[in-house]
Amino acid sequence: MMATRSIAASEKLYKSACDLMPGGVNSPVRAFRAVGGTPIYFSKGKGSKLWDVDGNEYIDYVCSWGAILLGHADARVTEAVSEAASRGTSFGAPCEAEIDLAELVIDRIPSIEMVRFVNSGSEANMGAIRLARAATGRSKLIKFAGNYHGAIDSLLAKSGSGVATFGLPDSAGVPASVTRETYLVNYNDADGVERIFQAHPGGVAAMLVEPVAGNMGLVPPEPGFLEKLRKLCDDHGSLLILDEVMTGFRVGMGGASTLFGVHGDITVMGKVIGGGLPVGAYGANRKLMEMVAPVGPVYQAGTLSGNPLAMAGGFAALSALESKSYDELEKIGSLLQSGLKEVFENYYINAQVQRVGSMISVFFTSAQVLDFETAQTTDRMFFGRLFNELLSRGIYLPPSALESWFISLSHSESDIDRTVQALSDSLKALSQ
Ligand SMILES: *Cc1c(COP(=O)(O)O)cnc(C)c1O
Repeated sequence: MMATRSIAASEKLYKSACDLMPGGVNSPVRAFRAVGGTPIYFSKGKGSKLWDVDGNEYIDYVCSWGAILLGHADARVTEAVSEAASRGTSFGAPCEAEIDLAELVIDRIPSIEMVRFVNSGSEANMGAIRLARAATGRSKLIKFAGNYHGAIDSLLAKSGSGVATFGLPDSAGVPASVTRETYLVNYNDADGVERIFQAHPGGVAAMLVEPVAGNMGLVPPEPGFLEKLRKLCDDHGSLLILDEVMTGFRVGMGGASTLFGVHGDITVMGKVIGGGLPVGAYGANRKLMEMVAPVGPVYQAGTLSGNPLAMAGGFAALSALESKSYDELEKIGSLLQSGLKEVFENYYINAQVQRVGSMISVFFTSAQVLDFETAQTTDRMFFGRLFNELLSRGIYLPPSALESWFISLSHSESDIDRTVQALSDSLKALSQ
């Protein structure tokens, strides 16, 4: 038996939305197709909690897909944004807040000397790829199966959760000529990367990698993997594009590059750096960044890029982070991980609970998960049933088996206790 609770108002909204927008949504995974049921319409968030339009409360483990690190409606962020909004939302001209956020990002990420702000992670990766191709005079790209870099034509090949959830190996509308220059390798397979470099001497412009993979569930890099990628790029004159859209400011103040001591030639960011507003960024050393227009020949532009609202929100969110914030995230993350593990063991369920700091995910498989192929051995049917049981008990997980769950600085020990209890109750219900 599922816990009883009404979601009538969400159902009504979803029905209207389906007539107006494809699948009722503006981003596919939100439609709950992978888990069944009706997407929940939230009316309010505060800290670790969300409330839906029917008045139900949830502990949120989506955190806007990782963008929310302080917690929902953090007063420091909302005040900064409201204050900025009261002075005008966008001028299409430079604003002072861009300098504040740029200084902060450059100060925290050692490999970045200059940065360009855009409006999303996808856009930032697009800019990074164009820059890498211009800088090397080459065209080929290497990407890892199960890594996601945004809804970009040239990279929509085995790009993880959103795409994989629908069983599409690729997207319609992307000409083969566009993905032809993109080579796919398994995550954690540095030898596979080396073979591609050897087969295409002088051809590879850049390799893109999620330094901690978070878009096929959470898959950490094996020890030495990122170091090998760095060396292979150096040996072959290719650029390493570290896609830190998910990990930047989430796994540590300096992102994964500082955590693992491996620096990208170009670093791509998004999510957390906007504090919940639409912001993406790419940064590199001065020489590379000065290839970008208007200084250099690499064109890239955006009407709302660096707008005062997004810059103020991002600056307020990042300014609130201290090194002890990451100790707290580690503590709560590890509590959740051990709590989940214990319950799964009690119910004799094969589950791999993988975690890096505040990013965590569960694979329902006995396989060791280290790439896209092994990630896909997870029991998606079981996840769907568990997802709905947990949802009915006020736990909001990403609605797909192949997504990472996120913790914010507002998640408390009592949130974790409630979550672990809800998991136990859900498994009990499923075993009856
Ligand atoms: C979310 C994500 C993106 C895309 O960012 P959008 O803001 O959704 O365009 C790119 N790369 C990674 C690693 C991401 O997690």
